[in-house]
Amino acid sequence: MDDPGVLRSPASGADRAPLVFDVIIAGCGPTGAMLAAELRLHDARVLVLEKDTEPPSFVRIVGLHVRSIELMAMRGLLERVLEHGRQRPAGGFFAAIAKPAPEGLDSAHAYLLGIPQPVINHLLEEHAIALGAQVRRGCAVAGVEQDDEGVTVELADGEQLRSRYLVGCDGGRSAVRKLLGVGFPGEPSQTETLMGEMEVGVPQEEIAATVTEIGETNRRFWVRPAGVGVYQVVVPVAGVSDRAEPPTLEDFRRQLRTIAGTDFGVHSPRWMSRFGDATRLADRYRVGRVLLAGDAAHIHPPIGGQGLNLGVQDAFNLGWKLAAQIRGWAPETLLDTYQAERRPVAADVLDNTRAQMELMSPEPGPQAVRRLLTELMDFDEVNRYLIEKITAIGIRYDVGDGPDLLGRRLRDIDVEEGHLYQLLHRGRGLLLDRTGRLTVGGWSDRVDHLADPTAVLDAPCVLLRPDGHVAWIGDDQQDLDDHLSRWFGEPAT
Ligand SMILES: Cc1cc2nc3c(=O)[nH]c(=O)nc-3n(C[C@H](O)[C@H](O)[C@H](O)COP(=O)(O)OP(=O)(O)OC[C@H]3O[C@@H](n4cnc5c(N)ncnc54)[C@H](O)[C@@H]3O)c2cc1C
Repeated sequence: MDDPGVLRSPASGADRAPLVFDVIIAGCGPTGAMLAAELRLHDARVLVLEKDTEPPSFVRIVGLHVRSIELMAMRGLLERVLEHGRQRPAGGFFAAIAKPAPEGLDSAHAYLLGIPQPVINHLLEEHAIALGAQVRRGCAVAGVEQDDEGVTVELADGEQLRSRYLVGCDGGRSAVRKLLGVGFPGEPSQTETLMGEMEVGVPQEEIAATVTEIGETNRRFWVRPAGVGVYQVVVPVAGVSDRAEPPTLEDFRRQLRTIAGTDFGVHSPRWMSRFGDATRLADRYRVGRVLLAGDAAHIHPPIGGQGLNLGVQDAFNLGWKLAAQIRGWAPETLLDTYQAERRPVAADVLDNTRAQMELMSPEPGPQAVRRLLTELMDFDEVNRYLIEKITAIGIRYDVGDGPDLLGRRLRDIDVEEGHLYQLLHRGRGLLLDRTGRLTVGGWSDRVDHLADPTAVLDAPCVLLRPDGHVAWIGDDQQDLDDHLSRWFGEPAT
């Protein structure tokens, strides 16, 4: 007898493999792992295919910005990430201009969490697996074909797998994006930077003096302690090479001598990598049953530390919508709101990194603009605007006309039972009702209802989507029902 969990392909495609999975995700970086977890909250059958046999060891990121920390709180992961990270002030990330964050940033989690990328990758992958996602390593997606019923994914070794949807979370050189033929216009890399961790052969004081002197004019150079006896070395390269090739220790030594006049006796590297400053945005985030998220959809220079944050937030936006599609209650246009909402956010991040890169230039013109902006950031509103951009708490999706809060994420406010975000762990919608008069009726299988007159909220009631964004504000039941239909489909009978 057929496995009841296996969907058969149509008779016309009898030679196709069965649709064992609802969603295959290509790539188990932070975006893929977050998406897998979000889909599992809604019982979608998820397989993550990861090209590499081992997780990456290189340490890239500055850390999680405020909105990503909020997402961790919304899914019950905050304590775990806090255990592994270091809280730092939230300010000072726009073009590395040293300004403290403005007072009263609108978040209960108003800090930066310094956490190495391998650690956050691991925590998210562990979370996805704990929720029931399957992860297969050493499996590179090499072919994609879609039809009315699903997607056939071919691996590099020729194995074929079927699913209803495929999401390419396979990084900046995304095979899925290329196989779809989706354009990735933008600017190629103009500069390249070497980055690695290694030991040094000279005293710390000698390094510090040289680094301080050169860092005044060259903002893409540093050598700083990164653990016991190990230094993080970042040094620019003249020209752009084939980035597929990892750099050698000799590359580091040569560049250090060119920039600093000494190679600090570097030896015993832990890891070495290179990165460019290409800026590109996918033309489309969806082609039929195949979607793109994270670096597969957008790349930009690492200035401001936004790439991982942006990808994880893509996954958070897409997860519940794709799950709704799979469970069969998604309103017709819901899945397309993923591109409509997230592509403009990525375009904005690309633009702010372009601006930041200009401000990092040692040329006199950009340096003058940098000095002017540094002065302007003394105005609270300017500083606040920039930090809300970098931390992604300023995002407002276009969900229609209404009060300013509509379309924005709601901060982690106090409610009778504790904190709002504790009520969002299951990834469901939530009606936060200060009137106590409303009901979620036939949507109660998808939307929770919290009647709480004490909630610290400047509105009678709000309807929150599973990603914590405000989909409706009001106090009228009919109006609420209309909006429940708009976001959560037809009520159960
Ligand atoms: C130097 C540097 C510093 C950075 N600092 C920050 C920072 O401070 N903050 C921040 O938010 N971001 C930062 N970033 C950006 C961040 O590292 C990326 O944006 C982030 O890793 C993107 O996550 P992703 O999951 O979309 O893609 P990736 O992390 O690239 O993951 C993609 C995964 O897909 C796999 N894969 C590739 N091809 C295939 C295939 N064909 N089949 C199956 N699997 C495949 C890869 O092996 C990989 O595991 C930095 C980047 C660099 C280079």
